[in-house]
Amino acid sequence: MRIPAATLRRFIADIFEAAGTSPAEAGRIGRYLVAANLTGHDSHGAVRVPRYVQNLKNGEVLADRTISIERETPVSAVIDGNDGFGQTVTPQAVQVGIDKAKASGLSAIAFRNTGHLGRAGDWAEMAAEQGLVSIHFVNVRGSLLVAPFGGVDRMLSTAPFCMAVPIPGRPLLLLDFATSLVAEGKVLVASRGGKKVPDDALVRPDGQTSGDPATLYGDLSGAERNPENGGGAIRTFGLHKGSGLAFMCEILGGALTGNGTCGPRAARRGAIRNGMMSFYLCPDLIGDPAEIAARAERYIAFFKSSRPAVAGGEVLVPGEPEARTRAEREANGVPLPPESWASIVAAAQSVGLGEASIPAAA
Ligand code: NAD
Repeated sequence: MRIPAATLRRFIADIFEAAGTSPAEAGRIGRYLVAANLTGHDSHGAVRVPRYVQNLKNGEVLADRTISIERETPVSAVIDGNDGFGQTVTPQAVQVGIDKAKASGLSAIAFRNTGHLGRAGDWAEMAAEQGLVSIHFVNVRGSLLVAPFGGVDRMLSTAPFCMAVPIPGRPLLLLDFATSLVAEGKVLVASRGGKKVPDDALVRPDGQTSGDPATLYGDLSGAERNPENGGGAIRTFGLHKGSGLAFMCEILGGALTGNGTCGPRAARRGAIRNGMMSFYLCPDLIGDPAEIAARAERYIAFFKSSRPAVAGGEVLVPGEPEARTRAEREANGVPLPPESWASIVAAAQSVGLGEASIPAAA
């Protein structure tokens, strides 16, 4: 089924308002989750609603929180998210970084203790909308899923890395990915008979690579899918290089920020917490924006002029797939598998929304 983005945003906002957040926070949650769907990152979109509702009900994430700035200089800040929704406290922290970079040319912001901050690309996009280059190293305390290069045990989260460079007049250059070879959500889908994950996406305890979801979840005969039941792990992308980047996300996003790194004790706590070390740069500190844009455009044209590896293929720059998917889904609606839709409707009913508040499935 496909559902218009505006309808989905409104429905998600209604759910969170009924669950106990302010209308403003409910609207933000709807906006950011649907933005993930619009950019094609469905694993970070509306499918998260039931888990977020559960987090709120359990007191694992708190409604309508405000950040606190714990240390500050003109070019830096250490900011606590106070266990708020990532969709509320992260933009507050990012705006501090933007304001400092606009005033001083650059800034570094250590951000910790936020609920799930969703798609890291949202935050680089927010900075880019205000003219800034930014780089973000994120960790996920409390989520152990990924084995390091050379190992078989889970020592890492899916720790995303993200950066964006705004070039006026063209879609944002945006690199934004998990450092795991695949997201856990993709293994989950495969375990339920959906699209398979690559044969080397997982690693078994004996060191053999695998594409079998049982490596992560153990016995697949029942309905339950709990990564605690599997003996294996997801692999990092890019061999030692991706593993090294994931490690640095833990060091910067977890150790430096004070969010806390992955570890056996943290892994046993309830809801996950993101930490994010961010760097913001005003490009006109470096040079004339028009000259920078012209140099970048020349290189982008050169880069894209490669002959395709497969007939009819094309070389894309980072951010291009997201921009294309957004245009298509804004026009045609967000595709949602029936099971995802049913789980969102169930979450709506669990917070007391009646039939009249549930949009007809398109
Ligand atoms: P992905 O594998 O789809 O990679 C996305 C990146 O690769 C984008 O920059 C995209 O522009 C680029 N890209 C994709 N196809 C391309 C192509 N054909 N040519 C050139 N570039 C291409 O992303 P992912 O690893 O599945 O991550 C999905 C999302 O999950 C991200 O937004 C990430 O921030 C988010 N995430 C969040 C958390 C968290 O704890 N908050 C944890 C993990 C991931």
